[in-house]
Amino acid sequence: MDILEHFRQTDALLEGHFILSSGLHSPNYLQCALALQYPADAARFGRAIAEHFTNENIETVASPAIGGLVIGYAVAAALNVRFIWTERQDGVMTLRRGFSVRENERILVVEDVITTGGSTRECIEALETRGAKVVGAASIIDRSGGAADVGVPRIALVSMQVPSYKPEDCPLCKAGTEAVKPGSRTKV
Ligand SMILES: [Zn+2]
Repeated sequence: MDILEHFRQTDALLEGHFILSSGLHSPNYLQCALALQYPADAARFGRAIAEHFTNENIETVASPAIGGLVIGYAVAAALNVRFIWTERQDGVMTLRRGFSVRENERILVVEDVITTGGSTRECIEALETRGAKVVGAASIIDRSGGAADVGVPRIALVSMQVPSYKPEDCPLCKAGTEAVKPGSRTKV
């Protein structure tokens, strides 16, 4: 399975010269939700992540909402375990909707994309403060190139560096190409 090829085909990964929502410029734009539109694709990625954890006695998969929901559910389905999620309430990642965890319950935390690892870390903290044992973390894409540390063993199906630049430092601008907002450009 060539994951990045699937991302390109579904426009989940664009290559060119983009203005990110942060205002920074980048040669790549990633929108994981587009790669997961078809359940069969999500299930395939879910199985690929699940294969790394078949010997870990995972009891539950948990994801930070919203980005982790589709892939987390797919991993839980592949492992045949339950699926729960954390979400922010007043800015703090927490368990809502009546979800609860047991003392020492073995949990795998799954996200679509890890950039700094921030939401995965917040999800882990929300679970561990309630007594669960987070035994691992996973994502489809690791945008940190392996650098993000979430405090538990972590895997990603694809590791990539996605550079971003201030407009005044952008080498693509210096090369004379025009930066575009994602969505205003067709796939390459
Ligand atoms: Zn630029």
